[in-house]
Amino acid sequence: MVEADQDAVDSDLVGGRLACGACGGRLAPWGHARWRTLRDGPRWVRLRPRRSRCVSCQLTHVLLPVLALLRRRDLASVIGEALRSRHIDGLSRREMAARAGVHPDTARGWSRRFVQKAEDIRAEFTALAHRYDPQLPPIEARGSPAVDALEAIGVAAAAAVRALGPVPLWDFVAGASGGRLLANTNCPLPGLA
Ligand SMILES: [Zn+2]
Repeated sequence: MVEADQDAVDSDLVGGRLACGACGGRLAPWGHARWRTLRDGPRWVRLRPRRSRCVSCQLTHVLLPVLALLRRRDLASVIGEALRSRHIDGLSRREMAARAGVHPDTARGWSRRFVQKAEDIRAEFTALAHRYDPQLPPIEARGSPAVDALEAIGVAAAAAVRALGPVPLWDFVAGASGGRLLANTNCPLPGLA
């Protein structure tokens, strides 16, 4: 996962400042991946992620911007705010979908996967929060696993902002989860850096 600012990504890549997720080797430019169209509510965002190749192990990687989650067509921020509206604000699935501007089945899929993974997400983001802020008190359980996962995400994001400076909440989440927030449950979140 790379930051959303394409020019900064390009200069990091060309400057050899991005490391291979598999072996830690230096990544070099390797053309572009296919164009993707992401939904930002009623708007469409087109982007063409950079592709890179590791000079050590030769693996190629698509550098997905932090705006996106793997295999999801909607921006991470749209999905994240929808999850919050459902599980914190208590909107129905239909209301959540209407607010996000997506089909109810799409919104239901986000929510179902998030609930399935809630315990893993809570554990990962709790660990991340304590890594950014070792003084942090324990994060209190608030109720349902989904609510606790969202609470851990919020606390981790706040700790990251204190440590690193401002970053949009759901860009932080997409980046910290390697885009896998809602990926297949058999596929654990990568070690959070
Ligand atoms: Zn490598």
